[in-house]
Amino acid sequence: MSQILVIGSLNADLVVRTPRFPQPSETISGDDLQMIPGGKGANQAVGAALLGANVSMLGRVGNDNFGDFLLNNLKQNKVDSTLVQRDDASTGTAIVVVDSNGQNSIVLSTGANGKVTPADVERASFSAFSLLLLQLEIPTPTVLRAAQRAKENNMRVILNPAPAQQLPDELISLADFIIPNETELSLLTGSKVKDIASTEQAARTLLKRGAQHVIVTLGSNGALIVSGKQGNTYTSTYVEAYPVNVVDTTAAGDAFIGGFATKLLESDSSLHSQGVLSNMQEQALALQEAVRFGCACGALATTKFGAQPSLPTKEDVEKFINS
Ligand code: ADP
Repeated sequence: MSQILVIGSLNADLVVRTPRFPQPSETISGDDLQMIPGGKGANQAVGAALLGANVSMLGRVGNDNFGDFLLNNLKQNKVDSTLVQRDDASTGTAIVVVDSNGQNSIVLSTGANGKVTPADVERASFSAFSLLLLQLEIPTPTVLRAAQRAKENNMRVILNPAPAQQLPDELISLADFIIPNETELSLLTGSKVKDIASTEQAARTLLKRGAQHVIVTLGSNGALIVSGKQGNTYTSTYVEAYPVNVVDTTAAGDAFIGGFATKLLESDSSLHSQGVLSNMQEQALALQEAVRFGCACGALATTKFGAQPSLPTKEDVEKFINS
């Protein structure tokens, strides 16, 4: 039985390394083109599946070679793709130029991702799932309908508000967990985020707007968990990053979310199987444990180049945590 449903984007990342970025009207030569499966939705789906979760993906790809490539990739990574439709639009693509300093310059073509509709969400059965993962690379009305249906089906909702944008309060209030990075948090709340105190302050405004838990990913500084009802009484817990030698930070956030979601489900089922009536303290500990696991996945993803090729397996993470 599938447990995690991801509703979101699938992209083909077309990556070329060059010594430097081209100027307007200039042509420069780069290395051989690499075609890498990406898109925040698919990255998070594959990330969770590699860690042993049962995952289904709902989205759209084009009737083109990139669409075949992305569907095959889901299959290879044991993500159920029954709910991915083919569309007349082109498959979503990201055209990525990487310079010799490892900096990215990206042109995103939304393509079929922009055609995922609330009706697609309506048609799907949610009854087999316990957790929904959402990002913002598909239209916001679709994301909102997905969150509403998840709540109607007693599922928990993880919302990764990326790429950064403002959102309606209704969507925020449907999220059990909102997981922004610092830039996304800043844009979402309209507040400057520069240190732990200002991060906590901005996160509290999301609690006031109805989110249950805000988990801010802080890159090489780890993550901050801010929880509480309406933000009046709240707790704030800092989780340190794992030190690593960074090669490329692409998909660190997606790896974090795949890891966090998988660990959260594992701890849910272990509390149930022990017959523990889980109290607030146990839930808070399970949440910290899931964030720590997410940090390990995020750190590992920075040690390899690319989006999905950098996502760690369960064995990779266990070895890393125990080393
Ligand atoms: P995003 O990729 O969405 O911007 P972050 O950069 O915050 O997200 O990374 C997500 C998580 O990955 C962080 O919370 C952290 O645990 C881990 N991480 C990212 N960059 C590093 C790094 N340089 N060193 C160690 N861990 C990292």
